[in-house]
Amino acid sequence: MHDITIIGAGPAGLSAGIYAARAKLSTLIVERMYPGGQAAITDRIENYPGFNEGVAGAELAENMKSQAEKFGAEFLNGEVESIERQGEKFIIKLKSESLESKAVILAMGAESRKLGVKGEKEYTGRGVSYCATCDGAFYANKPVMIVGGGDSAIEEALYLTRFASSVQVVHRRDRLRATKILQERAFKNKKIKFLWNSMVDEILGKDTVEEVIIRNVMTGEKTSALVNGIFVAIGWVPNTSFVKGLVKLDEQGYIITDETMNTGVPGLFAAGDIRKKPLRQVVTAVADGAIAAVEAGKYLESL
Ligand code: NAP
Repeated sequence: MHDITIIGAGPAGLSAGIYAARAKLSTLIVERMYPGGQAAITDRIENYPGFNEGVAGAELAENMKSQAEKFGAEFLNGEVESIERQGEKFIIKLKSESLESKAVILAMGAESRKLGVKGEKEYTGRGVSYCATCDGAFYANKPVMIVGGGDSAIEEALYLTRFASSVQVVHRRDRLRATKILQERAFKNKKIKFLWNSMVDEILGKDTVEEVIIRNVMTGEKTSALVNGIFVAIGWVPNTSFVKGLVKLDEQGYIITDETMNTGVPGLFAAGDIRKKPLRQVVTAVADGAIAAVEAGKYLESL
């Protein structure tokens, strides 16, 4: 049985791992994909303090992982299916095994919101992508589209201009949600064009994406855009399905905690993007992780 099991190896989980392992608590981090979460697939993180020139998300994630390992944190690749409190311990069930832990930190983050339109599922991986950093290079000299008006969409639109011949940004309103500095860069970039008050209606193609039907939300008019790639960046949905009923969630599914990251269930903490909070950034995720680990340590002492 571990002292602390952390579910999710994004910045929040890795930071919790560093703090817990350094405090000499036996620490296990369970991750279903790769370490770093959303940060790992971010080309360059410019607002994480201490990196004047920015830092590649993958590099930051790898450094956080090796820092946690250096202090003795263990890693396990697997997908958690349920968590249950039994007396003073937690039973964590994965597909092929069951783990026991005295305290648990939930740091599963969030996954990309889907458009929910015809053709999206069918063409995922064949022209529909949720990660410009991962797939952008496949579209050298080809026209692409990006959906969304937040920081992710605009940052990814700018990234895509390195490869694509043109980048159309489709946004449902007539102004962007993204921060001013990103907006200014995008408006100045000649490869980026904006389709305002517009939503995707359907994605069409043969083997791969060839065309996207756009609907103007003000007039209802439909137009066709010939693109080879469509990148979706319309926000995130928290990965909280297996803790429903165990912890309190807000109306969007984010876990409600107090300022000590406590979920209300003794010994069960939550950290990072999975939590109801005002700012979801790497800098706030790592802060959450540190607090959760220290508070979990205090909980263990109280047992
Ligand atoms: P976000 O801020 O929630 O923006 C989502 C965008 O998608 C919004 O423009 C929204 O439109 C649009 N949208 C939502 N649902 C839609 C739908 N069903 N159909 C069409 N459009 C839809 O998400 P995000 O850009 O991924 O950012 C998430 C968090 O990470 C934010 O806090 C952001 O600041 C942060 N982030 C920061 C950086 C950075 O600091 N460099 C980079 C990336 C992300 P409306 O505007 O009309 O709501």
